[in-house]
Amino acid sequence: MPKSSKTSKPIANQLHQIRNLVVVLGDQLNFDSPALNGFDPEFDLIWMAEVKYESTHVPSSKHRIVLFLSAMRHFAQDVIQKSWPLDYKTLDDSDNAGTITGELTKAILTHSPNHVILTQPGDYRVLKDIESTCKELGVDLRILSDTHFFTEIEDFVVHSKSRKQLRMEFWYRELRKKFNILMENGEPTGGQWNFDIENRESFGKKGPPPTPETYRRSPDTITAEVIELVERIYPTHVGELSNFAWPVTRAEALQALDQFIDERLQMFGQFEDAMWTDEPWLYHSHISASLNLKLLNPREVVNAAENAFSAGKAPISSVEGFTRQILGWREFVRGIYWTQMPRYLELNSLEAKYPLPSFYWTAETQMNCMRECLSQTFKYGYAHHIQRLMVLGLYTLMYGVDPREVHEWFLSVYVDAVEWVELPNTLGMSQFGDGGIIASKPYIASGKYIQRMSNYCTGCKYDPGISVGENACPMTTLYWDFLIRHKDLLLKNPRMGMQLKNLARLDKEKIIAIQNAAKNIRTAN
Ligand SMILES: Cc1cc2nc3c(=O)[nH]c(=O)nc-3n(C[C@H](O)[C@H](O)[C@H](O)COP(=O)(O)OP(=O)(O)OC[C@H]3O[C@@H](n4cnc5c(N)ncnc54)[C@H](O)[C@@H]3O)c2cc1C
Ligand code: SF4
Repeated sequence: MPKSSKTSKPIANQLHQIRNLVVVLGDQLNFDSPALNGFDPEFDLIWMAEVKYESTHVPSSKHRIVLFLSAMRHFAQDVIQKSWPLDYKTLDDSDNAGTITGELTKAILTHSPNHVILTQPGDYRVLKDIESTCKELGVDLRILSDTHFFTEIEDFVVHSKSRKQLRMEFWYRELRKKFNILMENGEPTGGQWNFDIENRESFGKKGPPPTPETYRRSPDTITAEVIELVERIYPTHVGELSNFAWPVTRAEALQALDQFIDERLQMFGQFEDAMWTDEPWLYHSHISASLNLKLLNPREVVNAAENAFSAGKAPISSVEGFTRQILGWREFVRGIYWTQMPRYLELNSLEAKYPLPSFYWTAETQMNCMRECLSQTFKYGYAHHIQRLMVLGLYTLMYGVDPREVHEWFLSVYVDAVEWVELPNTLGMSQFGDGGIIASKPYIASGKYIQRMSNYCTGCKYDPGISVGENACPMTTLYWDFLIRHKDLLLKNPRMGMQLKNLARLDKEKIIAIQNAAKNIRTAN
């Protein structure tokens, strides 16, 4: 841990009035941040604070807390090495106020800066807290847009204005052209915008080919100290820290990126949607946390993938599929978040009302698919997209869990969770709480989908083909129950035609049996 962080004393040259107090939040750990542009150690001061509220307003997993705190402390160490002035408050400092507002107030009163400089945060609540703190104390706050994205929020506003409906695909194509990514003479490289037909295979019965190791880094002294701190302060939070090995510095994040590009990008597209028991990493990149903490810049990530294609190291299907996630989905959900907040948080278009089943915090369930995805989540703070969307989120959607509770769970458990990206993915894409702002239809499926895309059903107590009876798969029961409950709403959606046609084949008796089985599932949880 950096020495100054222990004492939390600034090392600013106090002979001068502080010109800029530069706020560096836990997800803004990059020296090319606009807030640090023009930083003058003679006049300016960096302010960072570890505060309890950020780990407890939703009960963050130990992995998530350690990642943020360790990365912050590593960044602080680099600041100190540059001999830049730093005011850093540690979590266990006896006079830590516990909130960003409380600590920032103290810092402003202590240093009386002319200006507070802030890169736009990743959380609407934090933005509002900082704005109101500065307003109350009468200090000038300058908010700079975050250059660690391809686009500005204003670009998304312009894109949205002319459209009745927002769809990621149109935004993505616009950005491909604008930034000339995977384009040749104005046309998409490979002659098509998307390669979904070639991608998204399952592993079949044989299972995945040998998967390369993901980048893992054993804890250094700083991380080990943070692990000890988190175990002491948050003993009851979920997460097994003996497995903590995430990149906590830019240099490590770059190594993780290189390793992905060299070893896994090639197969990324083909197996993007596949799942397999005891294989948490597969061919995904595992760089979302590094991107979200700003240890990596999305431009360098997309460039690296494009270069791998040019060098013949990865097929267009994989490189396009990967680029779509970052240039497409990542920029799209950010635009949705900042243009829809704060009302977005309150949306609940399906009027889902049930509490989150308690096994989401324990992994104690007989459903193999859920147990696998939950156990892996607690072990590493990671699950890949389809595990989040088509297992963990699928169950809560079809069960009818209040989307606010689902959001709070997803914000708690994953190392990459920051509200601007987590909320639209959870409340919108996964729970259809926004009524279709992000997704054109609810992502629902029976256990048969999970059976096709994984081996989770092999050896499971339940049978994915059965919806009623002792061995009925809860996913399948809840799938039909969802269609029954929301039939009237779904009838308005042309993309639901096939599923509703199948529903129409069920007789009255079967429908009642399914409804009773679904009720039993909810009572048992
Ligand atoms: C319910 C739910 C909650 C989610 N919560 C988060 C979250 O808190 N933080 C987060 O970064 N992602 C979230 N995602 C998106 C996605 O699941 C993760 O980005 C991805 O699983 C991270 O693993 P990876 O780095 O191996 O990604 P890869 O599969 O290798 O994808 C490459 C990169 O693309 C980006 N990406 C992929 N899908 C999305 C997406 N849907 N939205 C935005 N970016 C995307 C990520 O930066 C990711 O690192 C969520 C998805 C769902 C369905
Ligand atoms: S049978 Fe149902 S509960 Fe069991 S693993 Fe398959 S989908 Fe999940």
